[in-house]
Amino acid sequence: MMDAISFARALRSWYDDQGIVLPWRGHPDPYAVVVSEVMLQQTTVAAVIPYFARFMARFPTPHALAAAPLDDVLAAWQGLGYYRRAHNLHNMARVLVSEYQGRWPTTAQGLKALPGIGDYTAGAVASMVFGQPALALDGNGVRVLSRIMGFTDVVSPATPALRAFAAACVPNDRPGDFWQAVMDLGRTICRPKNPTCLTCPVRDCCVGWAQGNVNEIPRLAAKKERPHRTGQAFVLHHNGHVWLRRRPDQGLLPRLYEPPTFGWEGPSAFTQDSELWEACGVVRHVFTHFSLSMDVFSANHKNPPFTEGNWYPRGDLPPLSSLAKKILQQTLFWVA
Ligand code: SF4
Repeated sequence: MMDAISFARALRSWYDDQGIVLPWRGHPDPYAVVVSEVMLQQTTVAAVIPYFARFMARFPTPHALAAAPLDDVLAAWQGLGYYRRAHNLHNMARVLVSEYQGRWPTTAQGLKALPGIGDYTAGAVASMVFGQPALALDGNGVRVLSRIMGFTDVVSPATPALRAFAAACVPNDRPGDFWQAVMDLGRTICRPKNPTCLTCPVRDCCVGWAQGNVNEIPRLAAKKERPHRTGQAFVLHHNGHVWLRRRPDQGLLPRLYEPPTFGWEGPSAFTQDSELWEACGVVRHVFTHFSLSMDVFSANHKNPPFTEGNWYPRGDLPPLSSLAKKILQQTLFWVA
């Protein structure tokens, strides 16, 4: 097996020299690290930085977050997408305050008992804030470590051989910096495609490099093909206002606002008056479990033909799902 200790040393010395400065790095407050880690799921570092600053200013403690109405949290999340993360964070803060009296568990296992905290986030917080030699394997970690090992089998964060190697690498001294270094290396040098191995600080320790097969590693399990759905969206606008309805509290995109949509979440009927509605093209969107194409129609008209919803002014829209934003952007309401 690759020499885990030499690798960890070389990596950390590179990080000490070249580590990227980020607002949540070295933060002593587990809450700040949890917020940043949740935001970084499915979003880039550059996009997260301004949201993190605004979110922490608006909800500086778990108590402030727990006390805030969910709609305020969703509004602060607007633009980051994947709103399920905001729901989870809010729920986690409420449980932390009500059941843990605001005191954070200090081990990965204890942190994982909080709602919305998965294996990776628990390991990241335990190592970065509490100095525990826990495992924090996200996509970057899986890629970097399996390349270092030259591991050519199908791999995931749960693969025992990868976890054993990771456990051998993570030091007792500053374990959090080890994971930060893995993340930096994965983002900047050991990228998914065309890693720049010639500039890599741990190339001498990399079995994948020595084998000449880094581009075939990691081998990830084939993704299931997503089913495709179709639907229609109707953007009614008048006098700088748009008609929106709030989605149900449960299910997909809970409590977010959207123009009325039909047909894509099961059978539903809306008989459109073809004199009124103008076709504005098709919007495509990909959810985790299916892809969607939505025919968009718009009308400038003051009498809504819908049973649910309200008018909202252009300058003060409530929290919209990314899909709703795409739909509105397809129409004259957005550009007017
Ligand atoms: S040598 Fe290449 S594959 Fe190996 S860790 Fe460095 S960048 Fe990644």
